[in-house]
Amino acid sequence: MKLRIALGELTYVERLYIYHYLPGSIALHVVLQWNPPATVPELQGTYGKEYYLEEIMHKADSYKVRHIVFDGPLPTEAAEKLIEEGYYVSVRYVEPLNLPEEANLFLASPLKDVPKREWLEVAVNSFQEAERVPKEVPIHTFKYEIYEELYERQGYYYVYNHDQPLREDTRCPRCKTPNAIREMGRLIAWDGPQCRKCGYRIKYKVAELPKPSPRLHEILAWQTSFVVI
Ligand SMILES: [Zn+2]
Repeated sequence: MKLRIALGELTYVERLYIYHYLPGSIALHVVLQWNPPATVPELQGTYGKEYYLEEIMHKADSYKVRHIVFDGPLPTEAAEKLIEEGYYVSVRYVEPLNLPEEANLFLASPLKDVPKREWLEVAVNSFQEAERVPKEVPIHTFKYEIYEELYERQGYYYVYNHDQPLREDTRCPRCKTPNAIREMGRLIAWDGPQCRKCGYRIKYKVAELPKPSPRLHEILAWQTSFVVI
C-alpha cells in the first residue's frame, strides 16, 4: 500500500498539540498529500511523493520511533496495518475518520460530529464547536476567552490555550493539582496518569516505547523538527 506524502519529520508530540496520547514521545509526523494537484509545478512532480507503508515504518524504526502522526485522511487499512505491526497511530484531520479504536484522532473543527472514541482530542475555534464535546475530552484552542469559558466557568476537564496567555499544563480535574507541565512544545515535568495528591486517574495513553538516541533529543531541543522525508 502506498501513501502520497508531502513531508515527514521527527518532532515531539506536544508540538503537534497531542497531549494525552503517549506524552513526551518523539513522533514521526507525516503530512499526507490528498488534494488533487492544482498547479503546473505540482503536476510536474513537486506534488508530494509516493511511499510504501513499509518505507514509512522503516523510517520510524531507523530512529527508534513507534508513534506515527498523520495529517490528513489516513485510509483505514493503513491505520490497521500499522497497529498490527506494533506502531501507535495518531491522525489529525478536519472530520471524523473510520480508524481502529486504538488509534488517536485529533479532530479540528468538530462542528457537526464528535465521534465516540477511546482516544480523541479536539481543536475548537468557537463556543459552538465545543458544545458537543464531552467534558473529559481534551480541547485545544487559540482564543483565551474560549479557554476561560470552558475551563473556568463550564468545568471542562482538560482545556489548553496555545496563544497568549498560554495555558498548556494539565491539572487534575478533581483537585486542580498540576500534573503535566509543558513549555515551548515540550513536556517538562509529568506525574504520570495518577494525580499525586488525590489519586484521580487522568486519561493518558501510556506505553513502553524504545528510546530514541540522545542526539535526536539534542537536535529537537534546538529546532522544532527534523525533516526525514
Ligand atoms: Zn487530584
